[in-house]
Amino acid sequence: MRKDEFRKKYGISTLAVHAGTYQDSETGAVNTPVFLSTTFRLTDSDYEKILSGKAREAWLYTRYGNPTRRAVELKVAALEGAEDGVGFASGMAAIATTLLTFLKQGDHMLTTLDLYGGTSYLIQKEFPKFGIELSFVEPRDVEAIEKAIKPNTKVLYFETISNPLLKLLDVEAVARIAHEHGAMLIVDNTFLTPFNLRPLELGADIVVHSASKYINGHSDVIAGFAVGPKELIEQVWETMLHFGGSMEPLPAYLVERGLKTFALRMARHNENGLKVAEFLENHPKVRKVIYPGLKSYEQRELADKLLKNGYGGMVSFEIDGTDEDGVRFMHNLKLWAEATSLGGVESLVSMPYNTSHAGLTPEQRAEMGIGPGFVRLSCGIEDADDLIEDLAQAFEKI
Ligand code: PLP
Repeated sequence: MRKDEFRKKYGISTLAVHAGTYQDSETGAVNTPVFLSTTFRLTDSDYEKILSGKAREAWLYTRYGNPTRRAVELKVAALEGAEDGVGFASGMAAIATTLLTFLKQGDHMLTTLDLYGGTSYLIQKEFPKFGIELSFVEPRDVEAIEKAIKPNTKVLYFETISNPLLKLLDVEAVARIAHEHGAMLIVDNTFLTPFNLRPLELGADIVVHSASKYINGHSDVIAGFAVGPKELIEQVWETMLHFGGSMEPLPAYLVERGLKTFALRMARHNENGLKVAEFLENHPKVRKVIYPGLKSYEQRELADKLLKNGYGGMVSFEIDGTDEDGVRFMHNLKLWAEATSLGGVESLVSMPYNTSHAGLTPEQRAEMGIGPGFVRLSCGIEDADDLIEDLAQAFEKI
């Protein structure tokens, strides 16, 4: 069966289990073997591929390609409805390599300050060295996005939902604007995942992921992906060869294994996210809750249009108190681990003021929408009642 027919025939749970999995004709192993080999014996057919500029199709050297990595690249591509994908050593490697594939000296990238901190540092500290111009817009304001496009704008870069304010991107409208102006739209879909949103179907050109989060799902691997049309992904692959941030076979195996339960995990993350958000919204010690599944969510209409399967596992809220109250609240939690990152099976809690946004003043944070006592939750796949009971007992102590 051809790859595309496979995709059309099966749903996301089936794709998560079967897509890409390496078929070992020798042993019939049902799982992808871990090919821990940097290099491979070359055949005449490999030489032919190399000589005709198709080195990516030969097994040559693991930075170029590795069967274990290929399996998980194809699985992530299938989940995102993409033609092809490349696996990276981290989400940052995926983002940096992808952006630097399509941007050169003198080009302009339109983006936002509502980005993961690592990405903000990458573009603000490194990109000026390459002569790449940047400007920043509010991601919810489609008109402002269009107005900020310049004749040299080559890339529009956004997260499909932002961190920690959970601002949703109107992917379809922004992709249309980008294309009307001869630019491309690259989005980071780490928070929503293809279970909740498939940006390529809405016109995005490339999707990048930190697979260290929901894609792997077990908080034990750092990895990343870029997926999209073959023609674009081949260009990203070539840049990856130059910068060298390729994914190793062992992490590739772990991510492919983690993905087999992707649909089950995401359904539970969504369910727990909604239950936790509803609990918080009704709690007297909570000033406000941000969650796309709540009636009070500012972009309610867009959330209903885009998010058909659920609203994700990330919930942000403000304790009716100070940052210090927030810290005391976190210290009193028993099940929720105080840690950065997200998207694993275990529930995590953190505060932007002493982690991701520690470099800003309280006034700057408040201006962005991160008021005192702002807490970010990554809801895991535990029993929602247990998670809620833990939150309730921690509130009682502040
Ligand atoms: N994108 C988002 C939205 C993230 O949250 C992160 C990490 O937290 C990254 C990218 C970077 O990924 P990695 O840590 O895998 O390099």
